[in-house]
Amino acid sequence: MSDTQRSIVILGGGTAGWMAANLIAHHLAQAVKITVIESPEIGIVGVGEGSTPQLKAFFDTLGIAEAEWMPRCNATYKTGIGFRGWSEVPGFEGYFHPFPTELDGFTAPAFFINAYARRHNADVWAHPDRFFLPAALAARRLAPLVPESFPFGIGYGYHFDAHLVGAFLRDHAIRLGVRHLQHRVVDVAVADGQVRHLVAEDGVIIAGDFFVDCSGFRSVIAQGALGVPFLPFGANLYNDSAVVMPTPRDASGTNCQTLSTAMRHGWAWDIPLTSRTGNGYVYASDYCSADDAETDLRGHLGLLDSPVEARHLKMKVGRVAESWAGNCLALGLAQGFIEPLEATALHIVQVTVEGFLHAWRDSDFTPRLRDEFNQMIAARYEGIRDYIVCHYRMSRRTDTDYWRDNATNQHLSDSLKAIITCWFTGGDLEKEITQQGIAGYYPPQSWHCLLAGYGQFPDPAWISSDVPRPPTDMAAIDDFIARCALNFSSHDEALAALGVG
Ligand SMILES: Cc1cc2nc3c(=O)[nH]c(=O)nc-3n(C[C@H](O)[C@H](O)[C@H](O)COP(=O)(O)OP(=O)(O)OC[C@H]3O[C@@H](n4cnc5c(N)ncnc54)[C@H](O)[C@@H]3O)c2cc1C
Repeated sequence: MSDTQRSIVILGGGTAGWMAANLIAHHLAQAVKITVIESPEIGIVGVGEGSTPQLKAFFDTLGIAEAEWMPRCNATYKTGIGFRGWSEVPGFEGYFHPFPTELDGFTAPAFFINAYARRHNADVWAHPDRFFLPAALAARRLAPLVPESFPFGIGYGYHFDAHLVGAFLRDHAIRLGVRHLQHRVVDVAVADGQVRHLVAEDGVIIAGDFFVDCSGFRSVIAQGALGVPFLPFGANLYNDSAVVMPTPRDASGTNCQTLSTAMRHGWAWDIPLTSRTGNGYVYASDYCSADDAETDLRGHLGLLDSPVEARHLKMKVGRVAESWAGNCLALGLAQGFIEPLEATALHIVQVTVEGFLHAWRDSDFTPRLRDEFNQMIAARYEGIRDYIVCHYRMSRRTDTDYWRDNATNQHLSDSLKAIITCWFTGGDLEKEITQQGIAGYYPPQSWHCLLAGYGQFPDPAWISSDVPRPPTDMAAIDDFIARCALNFSSHDEALAALGVG
């Protein structure tokens, strides 16, 4: 190590730890010496198999081609999330939340106009799915890979095997020069709010200048040794548990969407991999026992009499008060967790590492920009949380106390209250989101999809019926989307071309 080379110790070899190791090694290269320490006997959480488009940016940043990592991780493409059974409003029992594309500039304004008109009592089409190409790709099981002849970019994410991604990223980080140690850490030496070193069970001491806590829900350094407060989100996000069970791959073809199906006390995911389908039921233990949740999931999957084993997990939902405290950055589950409805956890990992590296380098490896950074990360957590809370607040399922309590939940942030008020009073939602400065978490398009997708429109008695602009010609939209979709090939063919599956 050179005199100026700093030493960064990452505690935890889950997806967060290895993502951090790769990004830091990539961005800081010779300026730092990186060590990842993990305990194989503790293991990783081993779930978290859907991403946002940010994961593509992660692999692009590292210069890792899809043909290199996807086959090794049983990965598939993801164009967005299909919500099923979240609303009882006829015609709105399901909708698709699309990832953004460069085509949205053509169709999203038409959707906003129609949604606005519909909120002002006009009898126009306002379900989101016909307006967005990713919904068409998902419905037709087409891969979101843009041919050269098609001059518009399509944002997409992935599904993958969490264990295999972890192993792939570990191997890549080691090739970048990251040191990998396997010990169970039993103590953290702290003086004056700074971590001095970690102490392993076998007496080994691991010292460093800076520490990244990726120790999962245990949060050994940040919440443990440094005592950074944890701010729970339980007042407005009730789900705190999950039960997980795989099923065989769908022989009829591979979906390129995550499916989220509303259940009696939460929702079930369906994540298509090339090796299997990942399934899980995220539920609230205040409303449903683990046994009942497992029975519900088995019923949902047609596995009531199957010997396939279920795995049960507890989720700690909320965030640390400060992601960067002293000389420690909390990351991944150690930093916080918002339930996985929109698969945002790895997205936050990436944003946190990149934001931290900017702040750290720009302040010459001192904490000068720490507060600004912490505020930026906290705002992102709250922004994402509000979007997730809105799903439950707006669902209007009425079959159980769980859904009825969610629908009447009054623990809403001022930001979310303003969005809901704007929607139900016929206001300009695009303007509201932009003015609040929260479009970077979820853009107006996502909010429109959610609110219109559940068939949530104002009571006609409350609102004027002035429609300022003529509604959209839906035949033209259908024609446009259908012709665009003609440019894309089948998801299974695209996977086969990569050597996946
Ligand atoms: C039900 C569920 C569904 C999810 N779905 C998604 C999703 O679809 N998309 C998404 O992006 N995210 C999802 N997530 C989140 C995702 O799983 C995590 O963000 C991701 O796996 C990163 O986890 P991690 O690395 O922070 O923690 P972990 O995987 O738990 O890793 C912790 C590491 O710390 C080590 N460790 C802990 N204590 C010690 C110690 N004392 N000494 C040494 N080592 C130690 C462990 O050995 C391990 O290596 C989901 C999470 C849950 C619970």
